[in-house]
Amino acid sequence: MKRASQKETILVALGGNALIRKHQAGTIEEQLENLRVPMRQIARLSEDYRIIITHGNGPQVGNLLLQQESCTAVPKMPLEILVAQTQGQIGYMIESTLDSAFMKAGIGDKSLVSLISYVVVDGNDPAFQNPTKPIGPVYTTEEAGRVSFPVRLTPKGYRRVVASPHPVTIVEKREIKKLIEMDFIVVCCGGGGIPVIREGRAFQGVDAVIDKDLASARLAEEVGVDIFLIATDVPGAALHYGSPEQKFLRAMTLDEADGYLAEGHFLAGSMGPKVEAAVQFMRNGGKRAVITSIDDIEKAVAGRAGTEITRYHET
Ligand code: ADP
Ligand code: MG
Repeated sequence: MKRASQKETILVALGGNALIRKHQAGTIEEQLENLRVPMRQIARLSEDYRIIITHGNGPQVGNLLLQQESCTAVPKMPLEILVAQTQGQIGYMIESTLDSAFMKAGIGDKSLVSLISYVVVDGNDPAFQNPTKPIGPVYTTEEAGRVSFPVRLTPKGYRRVVASPHPVTIVEKREIKKLIEMDFIVVCCGGGGIPVIREGRAFQGVDAVIDKDLASARLAEEVGVDIFLIATDVPGAALHYGSPEQKFLRAMTLDEADGYLAEGHFLAGSMGPKVEAAVQFMRNGGKRAVITSIDDIEKAVAGRAGTEITRYHET
């Protein structure tokens, strides 16, 4: 085991699918079980690396919205409150599975902290004029006509849409940096963080959702992590995804990534933001960015799995 001051830092961004798989209802047993594989690996990695964990919250915040829609006895809460709730619930699930993983591996004396995280967005971000991110339940045409927020027809049916502005800065970046320097494992920026607009010296929460991969890239830059690892439910980024010519990439340069993005290989809202986040981190001086499966986190750190986004071609 390395001393904290000699350790490199890894930021692991866990997909919402790491907690609830696409075919699952999302019971607590399912979520804790799904977390076991990534947490076992993260426990082992923490011996040699400082660790920051960020995570998605799509399925969890969707379930909270559905609960709100099905109940009239309790006042409805704005989205920022629901995001805060998911940061708490998922932070707790991550801490408890990671704690058991430490016990099983015989690793003692690790401190875990989950932070309620705020991410500053720009009130003039063009995303606010054009909400595109579908969230929460599907509505019938009749229901969609009655609700008090913008809705859009998606392939599943009518859904609420919110703005997805760019993350400007992570409010707690200094605190997170201090905590990892002390070798605390920090869980933060859940669901992309609670979006806030700066009004003088105060923050004001806004109804929006920040992409968790882009928020993670910004945090990775601001804290200066060594490895930015995006863990999801596929082995990496593929060309011609879902077609017979599908080919998972082991590496791509920044220029290649730009080209593939422009050609539409990586879908908006899923693989697209992951590749954009990795590219942004590397362009802003990052050392290593890799997109991999939650099953292969350790292999990817060792350079034996996933899609690496590189500055130059490997020689
Ligand atoms: P997460 O919860 O981890 O953010 P997403 O569903 O947002 O997961 O993104 C992962 C999904 O991206 C995969 O399950 C896959 O269906 C989809 N995807 C879209 N385009 C690609 C691609 N080119 N290569 C790999 N996966 C892709
Ligand atoms: Mg996603």
